[in-house]
Amino acid sequence: MALEMRRNQGKNGIGLSNYDRVCRTDDRPWQRPSGSPSATNSKNRGDQASELLLDKTSPATVRKRDSKQKINSPPHGCLGCRGIATMWTMKNQPVPGRLIQRLPKKIQRLLRQVGALADEQGVALYLVGGVVRDLLLKRENWDLDLTVEGDGVAFARLVADRYKAGLAVFERFATARLVFPDGLKVDIATTRQESYAQPAVLPTVQPASIEADLSRRDFTINAIAVQLNQRQFGRLLDPYGGRRDLRERTIRVLHAGSFQDDPTRIFRAIRFEQRFGFRLERTTSRLLVQAASTNLIQRLSGPRLQNEILLLLAERDPVRALVRLGQLKLLRFLHRGLCYRKDVKRTVTAVPKALTWWVSRFPDSAIDRPIVYLMALSSESSPSVVATMIRRLVLSREQAKKVSTGASLVDRALKSLTKEGTVRPSQVYRLLEDFSDEALVLLLAKKLSKQQGVRLSLLRRHLTAYMKNRTMKTALTGRDLQAMGLQMGPQYKTILGKLLDARIDGMVTTEAEERAFVQERLTG
Ligand code: ATP
Ligand code: MG
Repeated sequence: MALEMRRNQGKNGIGLSNYDRVCRTDDRPWQRPSGSPSATNSKNRGDQASELLLDKTSPATVRKRDSKQKINSPPHGCLGCRGIATMWTMKNQPVPGRLIQRLPKKIQRLLRQVGALADEQGVALYLVGGVVRDLLLKRENWDLDLTVEGDGVAFARLVADRYKAGLAVFERFATARLVFPDGLKVDIATTRQESYAQPAVLPTVQPASIEADLSRRDFTINAIAVQLNQRQFGRLLDPYGGRRDLRERTIRVLHAGSFQDDPTRIFRAIRFEQRFGFRLERTTSRLLVQAASTNLIQRLSGPRLQNEILLLLAERDPVRALVRLGQLKLLRFLHRGLCYRKDVKRTVTAVPKALTWWVSRFPDSAIDRPIVYLMALSSESSPSVVATMIRRLVLSREQAKKVSTGASLVDRALKSLTKEGTVRPSQVYRLLEDFSDEALVLLLAKKLSKQQGVRLSLLRRHLTAYMKNRTMKTALTGRDLQAMGLQMGPQYKTILGKLLDARIDGMVTTEAEERAFVQERLTG
């Protein structure tokens, strides 16, 4: 587990991934996406949410059992919710801490301890959002989101102090991220409510009750909380029928203006729909189609759009989600002129297979998977379209370079590497030396996507040889050439280049042979 935790820890500073940083810099108070490619993959295990749920109580049974209990009204009714008041009363039910038992023992212990700490501080503490959803779905997710009815940041400081955890505070949003010594990340926020001055802009937030906090969330399945205070440990709050929707494999927004308020939820809906194999509830689907047909997404800032797109592409199988984006004509928000023809679709569809082969052959190569998909998606678009898309998505310099050069390099190399006749290993090396690993995967995907599968194994052989050869070095250096009497100048590069080619092709294998090779060129 510790290993898994470490794996999920971002590389930067306190452990925030790039996507986290995007979010933070773009002022997304509510969200801590798990979008680093590696982190996302870990939680997508098992495609379908097949085994549900701990509590098989039918609504009818609940109604009967709750009839004597006080019925609290939810702050808002969620869309199409049947028996909302009934569901709301579930919060008063004593629900055993069985759900928490699905977490690793170490995390369970931690949650009990912070629950006790919350009691000491006189605040209510909840586990909330995606982790609760995934616990109910029995899917692994240790991205812990805690929310405090009270001062979340003060509580986070206390926890950090007690556990010697790293702490990053985002005062403006009353949120903090803790990174425990073993790598476990925990986000702690103050329960809040939000109001949107305009569609698609970030909301203003203010402290509020847990009920109000749940009511501002995206979908019913993400609006479930589990209380952690000692006496209420494991108590489930499910005011919008999230558990029912999980059982019925449904994505449902909480109110009709949800996509208008925050169009990133359009992408989130598609992401969850595809990840879990759920379907959109009818009204939700209508609202989504309606919102998608407007220009709301255009209003999203670059970092927010980038975040959503990259998170979607970081899913285990983003192909279906991309098909969905295509159907809903949402790819226009990357660029209106994006070329999304049949051949592009075929290349995109071939990416998972190419990635699987690549990862099995070269497990040490760190592939930016979302970028491979983005490269595939834009592989037949003009350079100016790609450049504008890159700007719109404010991709990092490294990602931008990969995406802008990938496609053109790939087409040229593909022809040479799959044509009749022998290609020397050094020629392959020279053809591919400027390729990012992502471009190499795209190269393979393009080949896989062509219906005539001939020469696929040849390409794979070339790739395998290239990956071995690209670490090859000559024994001689510039200094040796100098000692051999060569005048300083551009010929150094040429001779060393030729020497490397000869090494790669196996024409020279020792330092003595290299010297003889150079000598020959100097005298000849
Ligand atoms: P994932 O498994 O992809 O991390 P998640 O549901 O955990 O999915 P996060 O982005 O980690 O999503 O956010 C945590 C929680 O914050 C969500 O479960 C949801 O309750 C809330 N949330 C996140 N983004 C939004 C949003 N755009 N609008 C409303 N609530 C949101
Ligand atoms: Mg999450």
